[in-house]
Parts: sequence; structure tokens; C-alpha cells
Amino acid sequence: MLIDAHAHLDRYGDALEAALEEIAQHRIFTISNSLDLPSYKRNLEIGEMCELVLPTFGVHPWMAPEYADRLEDLHDAIEQSPVLGEIGLDYFFVEDPAEYPAQRKVLEFFLSSAVQQDKIVSVHTKGAEKDILDLLTRYDIQRAIIHWYSGPLDVFRELVSMGMYFTVGIEVLYSEHIRTIAREVPSDRLLTETDNPGGPKGLIGSIGMPALLLEVARGLAGARNSDVETITETVRRNLARLIEDDPWLSGTHARVFEGQHGGT
Ligand SMILES: [Zn+2]
Repeated sequence: MLIDAHAHLDRYGDALEAALEEIAQHRIFTISNSLDLPSYKRNLEIGEMCELVLPTFGVHPWMAPEYADRLEDLHDAIEQSPVLGEIGLDYFFVEDPAEYPAQRKVLEFFLSSAVQQDKIVSVHTKGAEKDILDLLTRYDIQRAIIHWYSGPLDVFRELVSMGMYFTVGIEVLYSEHIRTIAREVPSDRLLTETDNPGGPKGLIGSIGMPALLLEVARGLAGARNSDVETITETVRRNLARLIEDDPWLSGTHARVFEGQHGGT
């Protein structure tokens, strides 16, 4: 089994069927993050199509201005979702600082919900790594998946010391900085991701398909002086441990990691 701890299956459009076939063929447990409410609705439908898909609700920082003045509309989806993501801040791709207060307001609403409901969060940090660190500390977030971390190493090391999990994706094959991060993630905190379908496009020249994870594992094996089998088994064990005792995910753990499909 492979782990894609950060993807956006709702974005596949016509390629969804092919993507789900690859997910089934390679047995890829996939956390399908949402960008907003319509995105979550679509992810829930996809979750019904494939038992290896876990749909999660979040409002992406790019969409935050649309929701900052109607947070109450998010309440039901937050309650329903077993993990909260994708959430976060983005000061890199969003260049207009006028949007940052909305990003923070929406993120803080999710973080306070995560604390109240004891849920894992999946966090986007691009260009805002220090503010994310400060907010995760202030809200005393214990369990977070930090998605595609590419920021400064001192902030990274503080997030490591707080016990956070990290997804590494295909950029490990392209960037020395990402390789440094990939090497430094403790073995018990390492996860893999694709950010498919759009995330890898700038690097590989086309949308990502789920089996891209095999390339990610190859890149991680190179960066960590390991081998693909060790990486995939380590990541599988990490994800299983992360969700095993989670009040919202024990059923998913039982179904995916202890079920008829074997493996523990
Ligand atoms: Zn994403």
C-alpha cells in the first residue's frame, strides 16, 4: 500500500476514472483535500466511489476571502469532516497583503474547531511558515500534517520539535532545499503526497496521476539514503499510527489498514 496524504481528487475532471483505477491498482490510500464547500461536496462523492479515498473539508487560503464574512456557513462541513484540510496561509502565491487578514480569520476558525473537535489538520504554509508556526503554537495544535513544506529550516526544525508530520512530494526530485528537508524529517513523521492533479504540473509538465507516488518514493529513497520499500513501509506505518487512535478515524484505520485487504 502507498500513501498519498495530500491530493485534490475533485480537481481531476475527466481524468478521475483513470486516477481511481490507478489508486485501486497500486492500493493508494488518498487523503483528498478540499478547497472550499463545492470542492468538499465533490470529494464526498468521490469518497463514495472508492474506499481508499478519505475526503476532508477545508478552505484553502486562496479561497479564504470568499468565506471570511460567513464562517457560520462552514460549521456543518467542519463537523462532518474527520480531518480539516486544506487550510493555511499563503503569502507567496497570494501577493496582495489585503487578503491576508481574511486568510488568518478563516484559518483561526478552523484551528479553534480542530481543538474543540480533536481533529488532525492539513496545513498549507507557503511563504507564511513563521506565522503558521506561531498559530499552531498559540492554538496548541498537537497533530498536523504539514503539506509540501518548502520554507526556512529554522521554522521547519521547530515544527519537527512540536511533533508535526510532513508530506514530501515530487519536488524532492527537483530541489536541493526540498532534499535537505526530506532528509531531516524524522523517520516516524515522514509522509508522502502528490498534491495531484495540479500541484506537480509546474515540475512534470502535465497533471499528476496517482502512481507519481512511486517517483516520490524513489526521490525520498535517494535523499534519505534508503530504498523504496523501506520508504513506503515507513510512510504506511506513520499514517496508520497517526490515525489509529483518532476518534474520527478509527473506522478508517480498521477498514484500510486492518481490513480484508491485509497488512497491519
Ligand atoms: Zn493542496
